[in-house]
Amino acid sequence: SPYPILLSGPVQQGFGRGGKELGCPTANLPDDSITPMSSVCEPGVYYGYAQVLPPKDANWDEKHCIVHPMVMSLGWNPFYKNERLTAEIHVMHEFDADFYGYDLKAVVLGYIRPELDYTSREALIEDIETDKRVALNSLARPSYQEYSKAI
Ligand code: ADP
Ligand code: MG
Repeated sequence: SPYPILLSGPVQQGFGRGGKELGCPTANLPDDSITPMSSVCEPGVYYGYAQVLPPKDANWDEKHCIVHPMVMSLGWNPFYKNERLTAEIHVMHEFDADFYGYDLKAVVLGYIRPELDYTSREALIEDIETDKRVALNSLARPSYQEYSKAI
């Protein structure tokens, strides 16, 4: 198994398509930081843990810095004519502010499902909710506990 896969990089601006609107903002990692994953994984939805690391001078509450469960989509990027994969991470935590430019560390621990095309917004939202439940159930395994403390 290729897991655990470690990823890190500064959070980038995405296309602003849908994430927040769907109640599921996704932090985008820069292309060069996802090579450890794109070289060994197929597109799809994955689960693991993520941690936001603010710059030293940031006004950022401690509770936002701990390790949180995450679901991640690894998908083809239309901007690069679908020749490049992008990684977008939804951290399962309520942040009070955006964290563009902050470093994000993630450990990918497993695969949930392939990428799907959705005909309705409702179907997509429903699947995202299922993905989050699958992620939390999978991460409850004792063997994953070590990753929930530090990445
Ligand atoms: P974009 O297209 O710029 O990625 P999104 O609608 O996907 O826009 O929102 C992503 C941004 O929202 C992240 O870069 C981050 O700054 C912020 N954000 C707030 N809460 C979360 C969260 N729980 N998980 C991921 N990103 C979050
Ligand atoms: Mg996004």
